[in-house]
Amino acid sequence: GGTIGIMGGGQLGRMMALAGRAMGLHTVVWDPSPRPAGEAADAAIARSFDNSQALAEFLEQVQHVTYEFENVNVETVRAINEVRPVFPPPELLYISQNRLREKDTARRLGLLTTPYGALDTESDVRRAAAEIGFPAIIKTAEGGYDGKGQEPVSSLDEALAAFKSLQGGTRPLIFEQRVAFEREVSVVVARDQAGLTVTYPVTENHHAHGILDYSLAPAPMDETLAFEVRQQARTMAAGLDLVGVMALEFFIDQDGRVLFNEMAPRPHNSGHWTIEGATPSQFTQHMRAVAGWPVVEPRLMLPSAMVNLMGESFMNGYQDVYRVLNVPGAALHWYGKTEMRPGRKVGHVTLVANTVEEAFDGVKAVKQLVRGTSSGA
Ligand code: ATP
Ligand code: MG
Ligand code: MG
Repeated sequence: GGTIGIMGGGQLGRMMALAGRAMGLHTVVWDPSPRPAGEAADAAIARSFDNSQALAEFLEQVQHVTYEFENVNVETVRAINEVRPVFPPPELLYISQNRLREKDTARRLGLLTTPYGALDTESDVRRAAAEIGFPAIIKTAEGGYDGKGQEPVSSLDEALAAFKSLQGGTRPLIFEQRVAFEREVSVVVARDQAGLTVTYPVTENHHAHGILDYSLAPAPMDETLAFEVRQQARTMAAGLDLVGVMALEFFIDQDGRVLFNEMAPRPHNSGHWTIEGATPSQFTQHMRAVAGWPVVEPRLMLPSAMVNLMGESFMNGYQDVYRVLNVPGAALHWYGKTEMRPGRKVGHVTLVANTVEEAFDGVKAVKQLVRGTSSGA
């Protein structure tokens, strides 16, 4: 029990706070701007993460600490961990902040990845082009999300240009062979302080412009492969000493091989379907583990889907968004953001149905309605 401090007041912090409060846990959110997560929590501290007085005030109010985003300063998190336990542990956070570190870790634990290499200099670009080949993707190793800081490249000239435009030499970059994947999936894994580990059904993900568009769960895929994906998530959770929830993203290539892509040390957008589709949800599970409670084997309620609602669809107002509730099995999650910006996640809709195909029909219906309600898109 006790009070859980959440670093970060975006939608993930908000959903953590809501899940915690439903179980009677107290939550304090720390964010430079306290809304909307601050409204979902018991209390909010609205000052920057560098403000040591705000930090002291925060720590005084909480017994356990978690974070909703991985781009929080790891030194700050290590310092907090000296006085209040932080979950997932700082070392796991540190690994997940850098694509090279996380892929190295996955390989060390026996998982497969697409061929990759670090780019520090132009000669690294030439070497990667020769040894790994094209098509490829060059990414910033740190700080990227929603496909930001990535450039697909198909030749050495393009790779050298991408090295420049992504500020290679100043920032760590990674060169990855582009996977002609058959399917993109993710899995949420939860682990408690006693080491009990559980996984959620594998989720199939579809992106648009580098941003998660919709997810289907359970992924309509071979059951043996899905089991393997979940096993790999368990391996990573144990190897990284996870406490809380983390998500892992994989490609399934055309030969049916499972290739680790990246991980997130927290509940994940692709796991939002668990709010209605599984019991407990990824957020409830996370808060249980952070509070020192055991995790429990999640039960799938119904086949599910999730579709993200993006700012560009609501530039001319969102007063009609409730219409998505006309879709059978739909639940609306609106984050209460005050500013609608293109490419910004402003809400999501989950769908439960008797089959995953039917859930996917719901995704299409929601997309149609969202297009219909917005005069701007
Ligand atoms: P997220 O928003 O999930 O954190 P991200 O910006 O951290 O995303 P990735 O997940 O690595 O970046 O890449 C975004 C998407 O780009 C992937 O989900 C996938 O569709 C595509 N992609 C990334 N790397 C590769 C690759 N090596 N081969 C093929 N497609 C890729
Ligand atoms: Mg990412
Ligand atoms: Mg990703």
